[in-house]
Order: sequence, then C-alpha cells, then structure tokens
Amino acid sequence: MEDEPMLKIRSRTDCPCGSEEIYHDCCRPYHIGKASPATAELLMRSRYSAFFFRLVDYLVSSTHPDVREKNLREALDEVVHDMLWRSLHIVSKSKGTAEDKKGKVEFIAQYHCDDEFRELHENSRFRKYKGQWKYVDEKG
Ligand SMILES: [Zn+2]
Repeated sequence: MEDEPMLKIRSRTDCPCGSEEIYHDCCRPYHIGKASPATAELLMRSRYSAFFFRLVDYLVSSTHPDVREKNLREALDEVVHDMLWRSLHIVSKSKGTAEDKKGKVEFIAQYHCDDEFRELHENSRFRKYKGQWKYVDEKG
C-alpha cells in the first residue's frame, strides 16, 4: 500500500482524524503497517481516517479476529464509497492505555451520505489481540 501514489499526496495534508498533525506523522504509519497504535483512542482515530480514505484493508485488519465476519471486506466495500466523512470528536474514553487490555472510546463522527448530513455517536469497545489494539464492537 505504501507505493499507492494517492497516499503519498495525502501524507502531506492534515490528518482527517482531527489531531492537527499531518497525516504522514499521524495515522499513516498505522495504515501502512509501520507502527501500531499504542492506545485504543489512537486506533479509533486511525480507523476514522481509514474510513475517510477508504482503506478497507486497514479497517479489516484493525477489527478483532473474534468478531471479523467472513464478509466484512465486502460489506465495507459496499458502504465506504457512499460516506464522506467530515469530522471526528472524541467525547470520552475509559482505559485503553498502553498498559490496558481493554478500552472504550465514545465519539461523534459527522458525515454525508445520500446528500444527507448525518452523525454517528458510538461507544466503541476495543481489545488487545497479540499486543495490538483491535476494534471489537459498539456498545449502545
Ligand atoms: Zn490521524
């Protein structure tokens, strides 16, 4: 994925995850497999920017294997192109530090879909798998 020309262009722009860092120094190392997010929040942010850039491979690999449905890739392929992501706001988080094995991140993500402005308010649960943070599911 590193040689994908669009990723090179993107790497000089602000990261969509809202960190106010450039993409190259923020979520890109995670997306190309050069680093792993140290906290659940960083994984959550990197998944948001992966949705933004439609990096389906990353969305699949950052999902916990226990909940990775066989058709996850196809399901994501179908929806990622309909969504134009606008912003990410982290509301709260619990645990999910480098020392934890589980963590939760509550966030609000805004996007356009079918010419409609929408908001996704989710409590995501994360769990470590082989020492790396993975997305598990959303809880209410
Ligand atoms: Zn980022």
